[in-house]
Amino acid sequence: MASTTTSETTTSNFVRDIIIDDLKTGKYQGRVHTRFPPEPNGYLHIGHAKSICLNFGLAAEFGGQCNLRFDDTNPEKEETEYVESIMENIRWLGFDWEDRLYYASDYFEQLYKWAVQLIKASKAYVCDLSAEEVRQYRGTLTEPGKESPYRNRSVEENLNLFERMRAGEFPDGARTLRSKIDMASPNLNMRDPVMYRILHAEHHRTGDKWCIYPMYDFTHGQSDSIERITHSICTLEFEDHRPLYDWYVEQLGIYHPQQIEFDRLNLTYTVLSKRKLLTLVQERHVRGWDDPRMPTLAGIRRRGYTPEAIRNFCTSIGVSKTNGILELGLLEHFVREDLNKRAPRVMAVLRPLRVVIDNYPEGQVEMLEAINNPEDASMGTRQVPFSRVLYIEQEDFREDPPKQFFRLAPGREVRLRYGYFITCTGVVKDEKTGEVLELHCNYDRATRGGNAPDGRKVKSTIHWVSAAQAVDAEVRLYDYLFDRPNPNEEGVVFTKFLNPKSLEVVPNAKLEPSLAGAAPFSHYQFERLGYFCADPDSTAAKPVFNRTAALRDQLAKIEKRAKDSE
Ligand code: ATP
Ligand code: MG
Repeated sequence: MASTTTSETTTSNFVRDIIIDDLKTGKYQGRVHTRFPPEPNGYLHIGHAKSICLNFGLAAEFGGQCNLRFDDTNPEKEETEYVESIMENIRWLGFDWEDRLYYASDYFEQLYKWAVQLIKASKAYVCDLSAEEVRQYRGTLTEPGKESPYRNRSVEENLNLFERMRAGEFPDGARTLRSKIDMASPNLNMRDPVMYRILHAEHHRTGDKWCIYPMYDFTHGQSDSIERITHSICTLEFEDHRPLYDWYVEQLGIYHPQQIEFDRLNLTYTVLSKRKLLTLVQERHVRGWDDPRMPTLAGIRRRGYTPEAIRNFCTSIGVSKTNGILELGLLEHFVREDLNKRAPRVMAVLRPLRVVIDNYPEGQVEMLEAINNPEDASMGTRQVPFSRVLYIEQEDFREDPPKQFFRLAPGREVRLRYGYFITCTGVVKDEKTGEVLELHCNYDRATRGGNAPDGRKVKSTIHWVSAAQAVDAEVRLYDYLFDRPNPNEEGVVFTKFLNPKSLEVVPNAKLEPSLAGAAPFSHYQFERLGYFCADPDSTAAKPVFNRTAALRDQLAKIEKRAKDSE
């Protein structure tokens, strides 16, 4: 179970321990150099944030450096749009690669030379088997593979064919370059893995210069080596690839970084595979990559998450050697914790019910002082207008209140936040439907600011907005995007588990006037309703707000559940 450390401090973890050890033994002459290596085939998500915080965070802690390297070896799926969004997201998270921006595609020429070197050393050969045949020859976990009939081509023939592959003489898939390792190896990755494939595809950076592209495994370790990375930190699924990573750098006799694997982040009610996120966008289940329901960094930023909250979350969850699923509520806990400190509190009414204060002078407007953040006195106060006609929340009134309902009801007195005590004296209803249209109340002048001189108490304080000065707004409320904790069940189309109620648009909310012109991405706490963030869809005439999170903290519940399941 993750700890709930509140401050953004480094917590101990096994990757960090390895680095501390290497610094002690002088393994890399005191250097710490990491990299974050995204493939530009989608937007970054909260799982990537874990890797970013780990790589950039460890480098910063030990006075080292972290590179940004685009692992761009799949020309068909990669786009400049993704490259740009990735850079923007990393900066937003608060990390800086300075002048160390690299692309694996910058190393294509060097990788080609290294491939030639392996051919000359009889460690690689051109193979004419089709992709399907290569699969058949590979064997299984329990059966060894079969050697390719092309495995023993002469060095000369291999050099000649590989050069002609590069020159574009052969169609896609006709041949591959494979390393000559061991078709009987218990590790399938070592059974003569493919190094190069023929692909006549336009690359986002190299254009049509290449029609052969190196495989990830033949690219990653050597790219690390070129950049003199010390600790190549990646997720657990690459553990079985580490022998191959090591084999290439050893055979080539080049600088040898060490690969270290850690657990992928998974969250309940969430999909984090880029393929699935792309499906959500392409099939229009969401409004785009930055839809506030998406676990992408662009989406959760728009939702109102702060970089600090995400970094605190990533620090607190730590890293381990086993994959698990964390509760989405834990991430919410960290955004609440951060916004509680920094978000100014304001009043907004989502579903307005008109209240007329009959004994308040017609046409009068007075300004009442409201506290911007009780957690932080330095955030000061503001003035909110009060007048004869107000809006309160529909759900703060019950004509026939149940037992535990202490808010407004006929004959009952409540406190208006920062305002006066009011007592409900009348209810106007739609004759046909019975719907409550308007309330009539009286206020007690002596309770200005919220206290009665005679010491009488009220059981409830409700929020309100003065009608004449109110700003109309659209408010978007979100629920989990999926209807079950694990939408990644094998063999089921994951979109079947979409929650049809994940977005609720409240079209006619009423906001206090200080919210007019709120800058997109600015954060607020709407008193009693939750944390909200101004959406870039806002216009001068109509602001739009996203609910980042409701107020109630689920953490206690999560911890209890975790404890119960121990
Ligand atoms: P996907 O499988 O969804 O395509 P990926 O791992 O291929 O994701 P990359 O762009 O290659 O995505 O990831 C860049 C880095 O981020 C890699 O080092 C990868 O291990 C890491 N990463 C990706 N997803 C997660 C995750 N859920 N938790 C932690 N690290 C992750
Ligand atoms: Mg990848």
